[in-house]
Amino acid sequence: MRDPPQISQMVCLPTPHKDKYYKQKPHVLSDLVFDCEQLNRVLDGKEITRSQMYEVFDSMARRADDIYETAKTLRDRYKKQITFSKKAFFNSINLCSDICGYCTYKAEPGQTKLSMMSKDDVRNLARLAKRYRCVEALFVTGERPEQKYQEAREWLKKNGFSSTPEYLAHVSEIAFSEGLFPHTNAGNLTKPELNDLKKTNGSMGLMLESSSERLTQKNMPHHLAPSKNPSARLRVLESAGELKIPMTTGVLVGIGETPHEIIDSLFEIKRLHQKHGHIQEVILQNFQPKPDTRMRGSASAEEDYFKTIVALCRIIMPTMNIQIPPNLSPDSYQSFIDAGINDWGGISPLTPDYVNPEFGWPEIERIQKNTHSAGFELKARFPVYPEFIWMVNLEIYGKMQQISDEEGLVVDWYWK
Ligand code: SF4
Repeated sequence: MRDPPQISQMVCLPTPHKDKYYKQKPHVLSDLVFDCEQLNRVLDGKEITRSQMYEVFDSMARRADDIYETAKTLRDRYKKQITFSKKAFFNSINLCSDICGYCTYKAEPGQTKLSMMSKDDVRNLARLAKRYRCVEALFVTGERPEQKYQEAREWLKKNGFSSTPEYLAHVSEIAFSEGLFPHTNAGNLTKPELNDLKKTNGSMGLMLESSSERLTQKNMPHHLAPSKNPSARLRVLESAGELKIPMTTGVLVGIGETPHEIIDSLFEIKRLHQKHGHIQEVILQNFQPKPDTRMRGSASAEEDYFKTIVALCRIIMPTMNIQIPPNLSPDSYQSFIDAGINDWGGISPLTPDYVNPEFGWPEIERIQKNTHSAGFELKARFPVYPEFIWMVNLEIYGKMQQISDEEGLVVDWYWK
């Protein structure tokens, strides 16, 4: 972390000052008046409590128009733009020591989908991504592959590394030197490992998935995934907060949680953000069953339920950046603008979504058109959101300046 930059150091970026973003903005009374007292209070700038949110869900989820209207009004009040990140997905090492009931990303040795990207592979993809004017290098790995697989240990050793995080720090440097901005999503990292990655990663990601311990019980999706234990995940997010690393986190919707459990998960994220001010974005991802997983027979997250959870997230955290991945709702993603989102996440013109390989990303031009039809201009952002730029180091900040507009977003000429 560094101090917010001085005006003299700046070329394009705005003066990022944390007080500007973390102090509550002046409340604006809304013209809207609902039958629901809790929603009226939220529109008047009051915070909603967890038990009030349970009540709102229990009494209104079946006729959720007022919930959507509240979420949309709050988004319009606090977020004027819809953004995305133009990225390349680096499928770094997809061996994983855990088994989540819904995961098709994880590979086994010998499978054709196994990916272990050498330093040269990373450099080559980074150069290609740069030619496509991608901004973000998304590095994804399974959970500590070397803990379970001899193949991973040997491969890391052959490439000069003793662990996956050490490898990630190195390949992040490669991507950064090629002009991309790394954003690593590698499961539960220790505080020193996070600190190491922070040198080149302006932000990082770790999905909470769910704060429900119940989902770790027998026959539940996280039973064989110790890294998905909520207390372990929250500890990593807490460490990132202490290190002032802008973090993307979120929840997986429809994996067997109850609505109250998902509300609990969102309040856990809010609690962390109130404590450290470092949660830059909440992703809401709708579960889609994969044929080669234990949960292949489970139904997808029901769209109305998913949309209601998205709107509740906006009501719980009115000023948060809230994302849904458009490829997981290919026919209706634009309708989520009316549920309060303000970001489409990372979209790649180059690489597939290895986590959801059956869902290709929509073309950026199409997203641009649909966003425009909903009344918003689509803007490209860095992996770190403008409000959190003050947390990145001077080297990252200096590189961002070269393609940044005055709002801290990517200049249009670069990505369009
Ligand atoms: S979701 Fe992540 S932690 Fe779970 S099995 Fe897949 S790669 Fe491993």
